[in-house]
Formats: sequence, structure tokens, C-alpha cells
Amino acid sequence: MIITVQKFGGTSVSDEHSRRHVLRHIVREQQSGHSLVVVVSAMGRRGEPYATDTLLDLIKDNGSSLPAREKDLLLSCGELISASVLTSLLNAEGIPAVALTGGQAGIITDAGFGAARILDVQPKAILKHLSEGKVVVVTGFQGRTEDGEITTLGRGGSDTSATALGAALNASVVDIFTDVDGILTADPRIVSDARPLSVVSYEEICNMAYNGAKVIHPRAVEIAMKAGVPVRVRSTFSDGEGTLVTRSEAVRGRPGWTDRTVTGLAHVQGVTQLSVVTEGGPHDLQLRVFRAMAANGISVDLINVMPNAVHYTVKENDASKAIALLRDLGFEPRVRESCAKVSVIGGGMNGEPGVMAKIVEALTNRQIRILQSADSNTTIWVLVSGEDMAGALQALHSEFGLHLAAV
Ligand code: ADP
Ligand code: MG
Repeated sequence: MIITVQKFGGTSVSDEHSRRHVLRHIVREQQSGHSLVVVVSAMGRRGEPYATDTLLDLIKDNGSSLPAREKDLLLSCGELISASVLTSLLNAEGIPAVALTGGQAGIITDAGFGAARILDVQPKAILKHLSEGKVVVVTGFQGRTEDGEITTLGRGGSDTSATALGAALNASVVDIFTDVDGILTADPRIVSDARPLSVVSYEEICNMAYNGAKVIHPRAVEIAMKAGVPVRVRSTFSDGEGTLVTRSEAVRGRPGWTDRTVTGLAHVQGVTQLSVVTEGGPHDLQLRVFRAMAANGISVDLINVMPNAVHYTVKENDASKAIALLRDLGFEPRVRESCAKVSVIGGGMNGEPGVMAKIVEALTNRQIRILQSADSNTTIWVLVSGEDMAGALQALHSEFGLHLAAV
């Protein structure tokens, strides 16, 4: 039995028209003789009646009065509706199908309601239905604890459901269907000439996802990488092949792989930069600052440490708490609000000279100031003011030729 897992995101199942496209992909896969597990998200986006955010709005006036356990019951409803509706469509088309909740499908999680971690996948029920020739429709984004409590997996959780099932079932591929043609060289909402990549490595897309590219959840990629299951990110609304995500050794030399230094760009908005500068200050300045942040659960990023200064960033939501903590320590930080972190990512930049020089040149030509930077062997991060973010992404995109079609 060759198994394919297909995952359809919110916009792919939002209305009758898009569900017809979903049907087309299911039929095509079935006709190729593969057994099919279909993971669905809730239908549509906030404002549409059965979207998860719309369900959340039902309780928004009650503050945080609903316990996390019950909140997960509410959060899990959208996928139940979506899976039932799709199953009904399949059956009406003469395609035998069965709908399973995450728990019924064997996704076992810890009890971290709202952001539960998958502990195990026990796919017995799925395998039974597949052997009877049915398409198995599974509600994404959710699982159950050993005790049978319903849990949800956090934002982007349906991607994780799909790759976890793909890993447990040893699927030949996990297809993540969405509303764009694949993984693009940058967020198309900001860089209009971003283009789909034909192939990327697990590491590259993980990096892009961790640095803000919302097209697939990084945890989903990690699970696929560990199991060695290939993933494709592709459009529900076309027949394009989309982007293949696979091992880095397999990426080089494939059609579509140009000898690229930079693969793509990603960005995160809403970042606050904090700088503490104390000439002749305490010798343990750095220790005091980072110990205070850690003790209060504030995650820090873009850390530059110098003998008499530390510069780092925090998420906007954590900024006022971080500033208060620094003042408690007797430091008056310089605060720069509304910054954006722009990431330049590429598995091929390792050891390649001149990448930073090109970044600086592209941004300087546009009068964009780099407020801070950092690098690893596959990523260079620059902090810019929020106003400069779109311009920075566009400048870097053309500097590295990312708008040019792959050969
Ligand atoms: P789904 O509901 O199908 O899971 P998402 O909204 O989670 O869809 O992800 C798809 C969206 O991700 C796209 O519509 C696009 O705007 C956004 N996106 C951000 N960065 C990228 C990127 N590098 N490549 C493709 N899409 C991206
Ligand atoms: Mg998504």
C-alpha cells in the first residue's frame, strides 16, 4: 500500500468552489492507485462562519474565563465541521470516505492544551479504513491525551498533523495544499515578484519558517525531516507541482536548483531593540541583564554583547516588561520600537564570501539603515526599522536575483 497524505488549509476548504478543487486533487491521487489520508483545517479565515478565529470571537467578551481544556474543545470544532463537510462531498461523488478526529486517528499528545506536543501516533484505525479502500479524512490541528482529553496543537497545527501522520504511515509524500504556488522566495504580500522555488531542503524551509515565513509550520518540517518523508507545498487551485522539500544532499543538482547562494527571504515584524550601554558599569552587566530576562520568561534575540554594552531584541509584547526589569537593575536602556527582522536564508551561503557586502550595498543604496545584524552559516539577519522593512525585502530580493526564474 502506497500512502499519500494531503493537507488542505483554511482557504482551500472555505467554500463550495474551493472544495471542488480539493476533490479534483483527491480524485487524481486516488486514480494513481495511492491510498489517501486527507488532513483538513477549519473552513476559511476570521469573519467566515466556521473559521477557528470566528469561533474564538464567540467568547472574546468573557475575558479569559474559559479554562484551557474547554477552550480546546471550542478550538477543535472548526476542523470537525470541515472534515464532515468534505466527507459528505466525497461520499456524494461516490468516493467511499470516513472522517476521524485527531484522537480517533491515533494522534496522542501531552496535556499542553492550546499548544500540545505530539507524543505518539497510533495509526491502527487509519490503516483499517485504508485497507477497506476508503479515503480517510482527518481533522487537523488536534489530538487527544492518553486519557482521551481533546487537545489542539497551536497555530499552524494542521501542518504538524499532516507530517506526523505521514511519518507514522511511512507515506510516500505529504502534500501541503495552500493558496499560493509553493514556497516562494519571499512573502508575496510584500514582494510582488516573489516566485515559487521548485526544490528546497528541510533546513532551508525550517529556517524560513522559524524566521517568519508562515507558509508551513517549522515543527511540521522537523517531523518530516526526522522521518525522511518528502513534503510538497503546492496550490489547491492549480495543477502545478509546487515546491519539493527534501534532504539537502538531494536538493543540489536537481532540476530547478541553480547554484544559489541565497534561497529566500523571511521577516518578522513587531520587534523592539533594547540597548544597555554603561561606561565603567558593573563587570557582570551581561549576566545581570540576561539572567533577569530568562527568570521572567522573556525570550531574547539578535544578541550582541560587548564589554560595556549589550544590544538585543525582544518581541513587542514583552518590551514593557523587559524595560521595567532593566530599570529595576538600575539601567536606563535605549529603546527602539517597531523594528523588523529581515532574514536572508540559503543553504549555499556557507563559506561564500561577499554575501554581507551585497546586503549592505543593497540596503545602503536605498538609504536603509541596518540597526543590528547577526549571522549563522545559512542565515544573515538584519534589523531595520518597521518602515524600512518592505523596501529592505524588495531591495534584497532583486540584489540576489530571486525574481529571476529558476533554470
Ligand atoms: P493555509 O491556510 O493553507 O495553511 P497559510 O496562510 O498558513 O495557509 O499559508 C499560506 C500563506 O503564507 C500564503 O498565502 C502567503 O501569503 C504566506 N507566505 C508567507 N511567506 C511565504 C513564502 N515564503 N512562500 C509562500 N507563502 C508565504
Ligand atoms: Mg498554515
